[in-house]
Amino acid sequence: MSQKKNLFVGAIAFVAPVAVGLIVGLPLLEKASSPDPAKVILPQIDSKESATEAIATDQPVIKVLTPQVETAPTAPLQDAIVQDEVQPIDAAEHAPHLDGTNEENAHWGYSGETGPEHWGNLSRKFTTCKSGMMQSPIDLEAANTSTEITVNTDYKPLEANIRNTGHSIQIDVNNGSVLHAHDKAYKLLQVHFHTPSEHVTSGRTYPLEAHFVHASDNGELAVLGVLYEIGKKNAVLNDVVDLIEQPLDPETTKAPLIDLNRLMPNSRTVIRYMGSLTTPPCSEGVNWYVLAETQTASMAQIAKLHTAVGDNNRPPQPTNNRLIIKPAQ
Ligand SMILES: [Zn+2]
Repeated sequence: MSQKKNLFVGAIAFVAPVAVGLIVGLPLLEKASSPDPAKVILPQIDSKESATEAIATDQPVIKVLTPQVETAPTAPLQDAIVQDEVQPIDAAEHAPHLDGTNEENAHWGYSGETGPEHWGNLSRKFTTCKSGMMQSPIDLEAANTSTEITVNTDYKPLEANIRNTGHSIQIDVNNGSVLHAHDKAYKLLQVHFHTPSEHVTSGRTYPLEAHFVHASDNGELAVLGVLYEIGKKNAVLNDVVDLIEQPLDPETTKAPLIDLNRLMPNSRTVIRYMGSLTTPPCSEGVNWYVLAETQTASMAQIAKLHTAVGDNNRPPQPTNNRLIIKPAQ
């Protein structure tokens, strides 16, 4: 593709992520060997129902007081974050280790009979995990278009509110921090960590990946991924790790202020594609932005995060000829 065309493709990708699959994705699909391109695209719209239980067990303590736009295909995603995850009082209902009879609250994990390869069979709500054609994470080496895309983060200092959800270590955010991607603003809801990484490059796993989860006012989700190599320790991660080891009593101790920007490198150049939640119900329609540049963390920091939760990475999923845009070399 010419550079001009690449830019054009990139612009469309930002303006209308869903349309991208349909408009820009089709030419790619026509070239590909896939026998039925329509099949590849359709499941993206199909995420409505399963999305209602999105991230059900990872309850951020935040309420996003934004109107739902009924026509937005991804609105239920935000709805799910609000309804299913705000109230600690419902924690017992959503607790893991329920018996398999309650499908809505099916227990899932990262190994054995509740591991990623079984998610799609654990509950009717999770079927997208096995039937979805635009699942995350992916091998980023599958990028098939190159255009420079940068996002903007307006993340404000935050009193660290850190907890172990059972599936990851999570920082809840509700302080007006925003991700700007093209002309859209997405509010930051929470940050969590995967050890090892979920996104890989040419099959290579990184020791750590952070996910910054955002929602727009009309309920569209955007996740910014940051991959870490082992190296210099990260100052902010140190606070996170300390708080895992010694949780604060909010009654008596003020949480330290952390600067989320320092969890990532300076560059906001991204690899961009349309994907899904990487945990059940694996709802699709999620805008993925993975920073092209990696950050570092020390081996000790990564080990402490890993000790808290264990392996919590879903393996890479088929890309199914999706449009995956990486920066030009
Ligand atoms: Zn994640």
